Amino acid sequence: MKLRELNKRLISWQKWLLLRSCILCGSAIESNTEICPACEKTFKPIDAACSICGSPAKNSKECGRCQKDPPMFSQTIAIFEYSGAIKTLIHRMKYHQDNFALHTAANLFVHKLQQHKCFAIPNLIIPVPIHTTRLVHRGFNQSAEITKVVANELQCPQTPHMITKTKHTSSQQSLPLGKRKSNVRGAFSTTMRLDGQSIAILDDVMTSGETLRELSRVAIKAGARKVVCWVIARA
Ligand SMILES: [Zn+2]
Ligand SMILES: [Zn+2]
Repeated sequence: MKLRELNKRLISWQKWLLLRSCILCGSAIESNTEICPACEKTFKPIDAACSICGSPAKNSKECGRCQKDPPMFSQTIAIFEYSGAIKTLIHRMKYHQDNFALHTAANLFVHKLQQHKCFAIPNLIIPVPIHTTRLVHRGFNQSAEITKVVANELQCPQTPHMITKTKHTSSQQSLPLGKRKSNVRGAFSTTMRLDGQSIAILDDVMTSGETLRELSRVAIKAGARKVVCWVIARA
């Protein structure tokens, strides 16, 4: 083989080796991203939502529920609707402990979070805690792992130990909406006072919002001045 021919082949092998694949569908991508344009197209950013609970809406007024029964948190920043590829990404990090998916989701989240018009750095970020029994079963708390990445990027303190889950409850997803409030009532305890602190509580998905309502109630009771919710996706 001539030297020129060999060089040509080496260049094509190098290109092939450097080609990345989408972490969701496996198709080849040439840009410096983890998700292909086709998968990214299925992400639905939330443009208008209730200013308090982040529920997608036609405008940014308070929704009926927040008007009737306001939570103790004052605001929610929810980036995406819980559908399409973001659902796959979250499912993969949560149930398959895919660390690469977790870092991709966390980095995407922090990038969008910083662009949000309501974004402000809190005094402390607290992940939604899970009970020790579930932690042993699942092997990790995805909210705590995302919080580490986000806090590091924002240079903001975080702690998974300030609020703990002391009552083992049924999974919120397994219950009808009407039973979710009582399921998490009294399930969390603070380990320290939060006097005067502004807190961001972080979770991957917010559904009925009952867990975040209860957590914010506990945080305010412990002295927190302000509580906001940060979630990757809103169901
Ligand atoms: Zn893809
Ligand atoms: Zn609302």
